Amino acid sequence: MKASRAPKQPSGLHSEGSGRTAPLGSSEIPPVRKGGWQPPFRKLIAGRPSLGRDEKAKMREPDPRWIVDEMLGRLSRYLRFLGYDTLYAHGIRDDQILEIVREEGRWLVTRDRDLARRAPSAFLLHRFDLQGQLEELQALYPSLRTEVRFLRCPLCNGMLVASERSRPRPPKDVPERLWASSVPIYECQDCGQSYWEGSHTEEIRRTLARLQARRTSRA
Ligand SMILES: [Zn+2]
Repeated sequence: MKASRAPKQPSGLHSEGSGRTAPLGSSEIPPVRKGGWQPPFRKLIAGRPSLGRDEKAKMREPDPRWIVDEMLGRLSRYLRFLGYDTLYAHGIRDDQILEIVREEGRWLVTRDRDLARRAPSAFLLHRFDLQGQLEELQALYPSLRTEVRFLRCPLCNGMLVASERSRPRPPKDVPERLWASSVPIYECQDCGQSYWEGSHTEEIRRTLARLQARRTSRA
């Protein structure tokens, strides 16, 4: 844990209302690698459905990895709340985004039609509000998870691991009383931020419940 780099803000699983977006750092955009998971389809743009039955089946297999453009910061944090490996393309050029999409096989989520056209795998969204964006994404990718998973740090996309309760001291920003309880606590391996189930998760869960209700009503 690198506690010295922990963000100075209240602990807990923060709602998107915190307004914070993770800076573009080494943990945000890892070195481009060859190979890796390849998207099972060439392109999927709203209004232009192009998935066949086989492609839909493939989409349910491995967890997709996402890269979300600069206009969709809140959505990128929600994808991390859902446990997805999600890069937030803040402050990088379109050609760099496209290189990451190609090299890492990430799925691009964007509101930029031109960028979506140039990407080998892209979801083009149109809505400005978070709930609408989640609904659009769910319509295009029906397997989108709708429950919180403590797997990825909403701030930096680092991996979360359960805190060892045998440690003599709680992690930074974790109250002693909480540390003494049985509430699971998770720490980001990159930025040191701690997370747990609490009041901050209520809005997130309400948002996701509406998404879950839409899925149920369609079933
Ligand atoms: Zn983090």
